[in-house]
Amino acid sequence: MAFACQRNSYLREMLVKVVSCTKAKEGFEVILDDTPLFPEGGGQPCDEGLIGEVNVFRVLRRGMQAVHLTNEPVNEGEEINCKINWSKRFDHMQQHSAQHLLSAIADNKYNFRTVSWDLGKSISHVELNTPKITEEQLTHLELICNEAIRNHKPLTVHYLTKQEALGLREVKSRGLPEDVIEPIRVIEIEGIEKNMCCGTHVSNLAHVQAIKLMHTEAMRGGTRLFFLAGERCFGYMGSSLEIERKLTKILSCGRSEYADSIDKLKSSLRSIEKSFRNNLKELAKFEADNLTKSASELGYIFKHREEGDTDYIFAVLNSLADSTKDLPVFICTGATKSGGQFVLRAPDEKLTTLAEEICLLVNGKGGAKKGQFQGKALNYKKLKDVHDILIREAKKF
Ligand SMILES: [Zn+2]
Repeated sequence: MAFACQRNSYLREMLVKVVSCTKAKEGFEVILDDTPLFPEGGGQPCDEGLIGEVNVFRVLRRGMQAVHLTNEPVNEGEEINCKINWSKRFDHMQQHSAQHLLSAIADNKYNFRTVSWDLGKSISHVELNTPKITEEQLTHLELICNEAIRNHKPLTVHYLTKQEALGLREVKSRGLPEDVIEPIRVIEIEGIEKNMCCGTHVSNLAHVQAIKLMHTEAMRGGTRLFFLAGERCFGYMGSSLEIERKLTKILSCGRSEYADSIDKLKSSLRSIEKSFRNNLKELAKFEADNLTKSASELGYIFKHREEGDTDYIFAVLNSLADSTKDLPVFICTGATKSGGQFVLRAPDEKLTTLAEEICLLVNGKGGAKKGQFQGKALNYKKLKDVHDILIREAKKF
């Protein structure tokens, strides 16, 4: 009627008999006479563990059976020890019981019904049928959940007939699922709620330790409320402290000053960027004048500058004198190894073939518009060959 893991959530290992072991697409499928390993269901992921020394990487529910997926075979008929990965399972128990508690409190206090939930690898959420939850409601919900934990309310598993289940509040509002099989498994949090569930739960809310409500996310007219429970709260706090230590060192201030300090840095960065852009424009103008002068002798313009972007390239192009408008022009920015932006200007009839030739040399691609080809190069290792093309195409006077 129920697996050993459901009869006793705290069972970490037991002696089992291997009923069958068959080759499957991926590894082997093992059926045992009973199992301490929870097969996935009710929103709770499956357990991992060992049958003897053989690793069980997944457990599925097929009808009334639990199917253990393994990489290696086990001997049919053998009596063998089966052990679960307890830390992972206990974490699942903490998150799942916390979800029952949170869903019940949200329903009791605010009439927010849980539409679905997810036990995530690092954070879980309940999806509530409300478009919005206020900060005050979140604080209140968290307070009441943790108060219930402090009051160490027991969780009890009941097995009911369909007739008995019809008396549950949950069943009265939603009805019984069509495929429900008797006996119906119900988890009761004393004085708070009774809920149909196949999962493994802690025996007392005290074992949940704590619930921390995190952020919310709007979803299909409802709201996803993310939460952490039990050891995850301490894990999160540990990683937050680590980040805090790093930030304190980087910003040279305490955490209460982080926001102000970052705000100041951002605004000084904005003013530096502004003056950098202005300087770059002035520099571009100065360089354009020099390029215009030398172009009258060379018959082309070729310029590479490591620091700079498309703004710089167009600032130079726009500052070139009219006398250069029929000459081939190539201006590029970026490092030799990593490439960057470039613009090629050439008479219309030559633009496409020249662009193709240059793109091959700089591993580049781009597009032509109004007599100019604008592209991105992956490197400038053959920039000298590009220069040679410009020399070849130079318009001599
Ligand atoms: Zn449940």
